[in-house]
Amino acid sequence: MSRPAEQRSAGKVWLVGAGPGAVDLLTVRAVRLLGEADVVLHDALIGDDVLLLAPQAKLIAVGKRCGKQSTAQRFINQKLIHAALTHTRVVRLKGGDPMLFGRAQEEMDALAAAGIDYEVVPGITAASAASAQIRVSLTRRGIARSVALLTPRAGEGEHPSQALRANADTPTLALYMASHESMAIARELMSYGRDPATPVVVVENASHPTSREAFTTLQGLAEQPVGALLGTAGILEGPVLVMLGEVFLEALQQHTPFWQGDSASAA
Ligand code: SAH
Repeated sequence: MSRPAEQRSAGKVWLVGAGPGAVDLLTVRAVRLLGEADVVLHDALIGDDVLLLAPQAKLIAVGKRCGKQSTAQRFINQKLIHAALTHTRVVRLKGGDPMLFGRAQEEMDALAAAGIDYEVVPGITAASAASAQIRVSLTRRGIARSVALLTPRAGEGEHPSQALRANADTPTLALYMASHESMAIARELMSYGRDPATPVVVVENASHPTSREAFTTLQGLAEQPVGALLGTAGILEGPVLVMLGEVFLEALQQHTPFWQGDSASAA
């Protein structure tokens, strides 16, 4: 549905990273653009305090959680194009960094096909926020010279295990959208030869005051769902990042591994 050049809309779209949640982890540029926006299309996970930075803008929630991904994405693309055809300054606000696991490419392609100008503003991704919060560097001289950001969630035509198999030996792994399949992922990584004693950190709601953390091993991750590892009856309240690698060893040693459970904490 490309449009001839002379019909191009006056509107412009900014794909803006909202960061991991804490409002003061937005970039200065993101704050400026929100303050100037006519309309903001935002994901479900964007907090009200962030949206308050655009009090003049029309707010449109286009969040999709799991399931029916491709239909939902087409719908979002259409809404975005429509917003650009009817407004001058459109902000498409996405959690974390828009260019990581955010379907940004589909949206950019749709905008380009419709002849709509756009820019991208990076944001702080969940792995950066989680590592900052637990105060562990994801890379470390002599231990981890590479990090893989990956998701076990498969897109159309992809095999879910490919990303895991290809990265089973990467020193540090940050697993996005992995909380529901964490036990299977842990078993799978061990089947590819990853040491069951590999330290694991689970961070829910990184950068929020309500954030929860759990420290375990790959074996421990295989034995309990992340909700149970995080405590409080296993109910997950926010997004969860699962990270693993030797860089987390000291952090693991400093925390009582949850799977030793009540007997350890009661002692
Ligand atoms: N573009 C985002 C990622 C979107 S995918 C980014 O760069 O961070 C959504 C996944 O990101 C969630 O399932 C979770 O794994 C992770 N995530 C996002 N925000 C998070 C947060 N505050 N704490 C922990 N994980 C988070």
